[in-house]
Amino acid sequence: MSKGSWFPTIFSDNCDGCKGGYKCVAYCPNGVLEIRDDKAVIVNPLGCIDGCSACASICPKDAIRFPSKEASPSVTTKKSLLHRVVCGECGKTFLTDRETEYCFSCEDKVRKPFH
Ligand code: SF4
Ligand code: SF4
Repeated sequence: MSKGSWFPTIFSDNCDGCKGGYKCVAYCPNGVLEIRDDKAVIVNPLGCIDGCSACASICPKDAIRFPSKEASPSVTTKKSLLHRVVCGECGKTFLTDRETEYCFSCEDKVRKPFH
């Protein structure tokens, strides 16, 4: 699967915003999801990490789905490259295939502290 084609679909009929908790939005360190009209929506699909499906596993309403990994050999291969990192700025744990100490959200802040 090419870069940018792996990202979740949110079934908005199922999403109840975790009754205000927005677990997936709070969890994802890559800025993929945001809250719109009290529901989670995908705003940055390119930020999603190939093979990651962590937000789906924490959704209490089964509202988050991904393409089939079996039908995406490159994702299956790449998954073995993912490793867990604790962000040196915000402390969130995230999965990445890059060598980095910071999550996607904090990377810009750390690199451009005055912006
Ligand atoms: S975790 Fe599920 S129910 Fe909660 S905001 Fe995200 S999609 Fe909606
Ligand atoms: S938690 Fe993982 S799978 Fe979910 S949107 Fe963020 S990067 Fe993608």
